[in-house]
Amino acid sequence: MTTELSGIGVTPRAGVGGVVWYRGATDLPDPPDPTTVDPEEELATFEAAQATAHEELERERERATDRVGEDEAEIFDAHRAFVDDPEIVGGIEAAIENGLPAPHAIQRAFTDPIARFENLEGSMSERADDLRDVRDRLLRIVTDGDRMDLGDLPDGSILVAERLTPSDTAQLDPDVLSGFATIFGGRTSHAAIFARSLGIPAVVGVGDELAQVGDGRELLVDGENGVVVIDPDEGAKRRIADAETPVIDDHVSTADGEEIEVAANVGTLAELDVAAEQGADGIGLFRTEFLFLDRDAPPDEDEQYEVYTEALATFPDERCVVRTLDIGGDKPIPYLDAPDEANPFLGERGIRRSLGPDSDLFETQLRALLRAAADDSAGTLAVMFPLVASVEELDAALARVETVAEELDEEGESFDVPELGVMIETPGSVFMAESLAERVDFLSIGTNDLTQYVMAASRENERVSDLHDPRYPAVLRAIRRTVSAGHEGDAWVGMCGEMAGDPDLTELLVGLGLDELSMSAITVPDVKANVGDIDTEPARERAERVLDAETREEVAELL
Ligand code: PEP
Ligand code: MG
Repeated sequence: MTTELSGIGVTPRAGVGGVVWYRGATDLPDPPDPTTVDPEEELATFEAAQATAHEELERERERATDRVGEDEAEIFDAHRAFVDDPEIVGGIEAAIENGLPAPHAIQRAFTDPIARFENLEGSMSERADDLRDVRDRLLRIVTDGDRMDLGDLPDGSILVAERLTPSDTAQLDPDVLSGFATIFGGRTSHAAIFARSLGIPAVVGVGDELAQVGDGRELLVDGENGVVVIDPDEGAKRRIADAETPVIDDHVSTADGEEIEVAANVGTLAELDVAAEQGADGIGLFRTEFLFLDRDAPPDEDEQYEVYTEALATFPDERCVVRTLDIGGDKPIPYLDAPDEANPFLGERGIRRSLGPDSDLFETQLRALLRAAADDSAGTLAVMFPLVASVEELDAALARVETVAEELDEEGESFDVPELGVMIETPGSVFMAESLAERVDFLSIGTNDLTQYVMAASRENERVSDLHDPRYPAVLRAIRRTVSAGHEGDAWVGMCGEMAGDPDLTELLVGLGLDELSMSAITVPDVKANVGDIDTEPARERAERVLDAETREEVAELL
């Protein structure tokens, strides 16, 4: 019998295949028969993990001391003390003696101490988080060799997980994977965005019921309608045959001749080819932080220079908008020692890190970008800054560009200062859009974050996904305000959030006055096809009526 579960569809494609569960480091399989466990070997494994944990913590302490100061770095000493805590170590040794392998022994020995701290009042209860951190570190170290290689899944499989991180998703191979489904997650989480740019059928936020689907069961993932079907029948499988819109390589204009640039969002070099194949008019958002994931150290200036040069060479007659590092939020990078924050989306992310703890990385990136901009034979480079909330931040970022240009000049390097822009992703930037626009060449509206901050609804939390919808009048009015402010300040205005790639909204976005739309490459053909059918005058009138609406329902009726 088939069972259907609903979730949030993130890629307008469907796929079917056998389930492969992805389990994180703390999600251990059942322990083996104790008679097959060699206690001496397991003890050696644990002791080696203890040593590695000390080395890691010492390194992290040194980096934290340099960056944030001695007081903040003391937490690493507390973690090191937990690694050697006599009660915990004694518990692990006893569990191993009783026939448990090292990972299971670690998990068991931490259980009681964590529970004890959890039951305490006030700040002592936070110690439970430190203990969990130390436990997970040890588990990660001892299970490292056993972790599933996400880049090497059986052909045609459907990956099922509690949640996937952006770096998990970055390892997936769209040629072998038929799709994925997760228990948690939202439509604009970065894992979902990555899936979309790779064209992998995906449904996220399906909920706990997904846990009942065991390894090997057949699962249909329908990212268009946001459903997964367990044991689908032949009829359901036939219906998923993809109907793809033909690619349009040329630039497109509305029926009355207004050109709208339809560009692609990318995060890796591999996606550049997909963007070119789908007929994108260049790149409207290059999420450079993906170059920093899944490695032990950041890419240096030359490596970044090569990447940006390649992006420009892929689109020799177009513009390529590169966004400077947007780390933090749901894109932590382990080797950068970002602090654990209670509210990472309201914390140190985007330009805040580039002007603060990552200022050296920012400088390296700007150097690579300004050097890449010098190549006249390739496409035109544009650079924009993420998560700006104030004019002060933009001024500081622009001053850094100036300093880097002066340094390159003194060094005799060839460079050019590219077009500069700012992302509009915060209510602060919407209200200050006039002043921001006066200082730059363009504004690019990031509706994923803008919706999250205007509606106070996390882009990651499926419980509030209904509120995280750019069709709420508040978000639409923020967009309209930004477009007017940008045009008044002679800046062109684009949109690079997921909203730009929704083919049902193309007419509204043209009516709101956007000059450029940038989206996951697979939606470029649909949006390009729509632009040609639009008459700008009626589209503007309809957009004005939509802006008068007071509820999302009214907006939906008008659309
Ligand atoms: C956005 O916030 O809309 C955006 C395009 O940036 P990101 O999704 O990478 O946060
Ligand atoms: Mg954003």
